[in-house]
Amino acid sequence: MPRVYNFSAGPAMLPSEVLEAAARALLDYQGKGFGIAEWSHRSKEFEAVVDEAIARCKALLGIGDSHDVLFLQGGATQLFSTIPMQLAGGRCVDYLACGEWGKKAAACASEIGARVNIVASSEDTGFDRVPPAETWRLTPDAAYLHVCSNETVHGHRLVELPRHPTLIVDASSEFMSRPHPMERIALIYGGAQKNLGPSGLVLAIVRKDLYERIPAKGLPKLFSFKAQAEQKSMINTPPTFAIYVLLEVFRWLERQGGLAAMERRNAEKARLIYEAIDGSGGFYRGTIADPAQRSHMNVTFRLPNEELTERFVKEAAAQGMLALKGYRTVGGIRASLYNAMPLEGCRMLAEFMREFQRRCG
Ligand SMILES: *Cc1c(COP(=O)(O)O)cnc(C)c1O
Repeated sequence: MPRVYNFSAGPAMLPSEVLEAAARALLDYQGKGFGIAEWSHRSKEFEAVVDEAIARCKALLGIGDSHDVLFLQGGATQLFSTIPMQLAGGRCVDYLACGEWGKKAAACASEIGARVNIVASSEDTGFDRVPPAETWRLTPDAAYLHVCSNETVHGHRLVELPRHPTLIVDASSEFMSRPHPMERIALIYGGAQKNLGPSGLVLAIVRKDLYERIPAKGLPKLFSFKAQAEQKSMINTPPTFAIYVLLEVFRWLERQGGLAAMERRNAEKARLIYEAIDGSGGFYRGTIADPAQRSHMNVTFRLPNEELTERFVKEAAAQGMLALKGYRTVGGIRASLYNAMPLEGCRMLAEFMREFQRRCG
């Protein structure tokens, strides 16, 4: 079956091996005569899936008993609200807002009545950078610092996470694309549909000392990280099939050599596209101020005009490279190169970029 290269920002490509395993399991799980999506979440079969997913997730991230692994619903967007609801505790909360997602997270905290301090923003320069950490205006006794480690829309990343006693990371668009320094992280979370699996599932890794901050009253139990951890994310019916696919992705990541191996491969993939941009003599223009902050997951660039941009997207699609159009409010081109995008797809796009420039430049 011919597969195209799908550069969508999410839901995005999944590895073929994972899809094949998931397709088999959907029809008949381990020769049991039922599919994985048709079986009770209270069954021993599904419990084994959850246990293995938690164990493999911890092994990939190199964590032991310090953190819990949660499978939640409502998207990363729901956590934008449930995080301050549980962890603000009446104190000021600090947010880095250097892109659409960081800004949205901060707005959701304000919406539920938290006192929000924006430590840094780059909105006045079109969210093209993260200002240097020395210039961030941190609140000395903030309940936490929330950062988005990869701004999906604009295409920049935090090369190194800051140090903070309660660091919360929205890693939606780069979760497990590289090792995460878990010893610095109180909570890391992301919608699965970017880098890890199908939509409808949020992976959240929570440091256990956060539980004591969760208010005893006024918070629906379903939102409580502690209650979810105690019931292995099964207070109610979890997205069983999505969790199963996530488990297959964890197995696949291990076969690839783990997160350090993924980081090397993802850096090489991104380098191919950035090289095509930088070698174009200005035909393609990157959108990020400092090349060191360029995302390895979402590569953003512009062509000389709208007409060429549209033609680029259309001709690439005709050659089997899909979904290269930039985010609706931003325009230009965005190529998302998540874990499942093969090196070959990036080679093909880089070659297409050079060939397109020769014809149209
Ligand atoms: C996509 C995205 C979100 C929103 O995820 P949903 O699962 O759609 O709620 C949040 N943060 C980042 C960084 C994203 O890329």
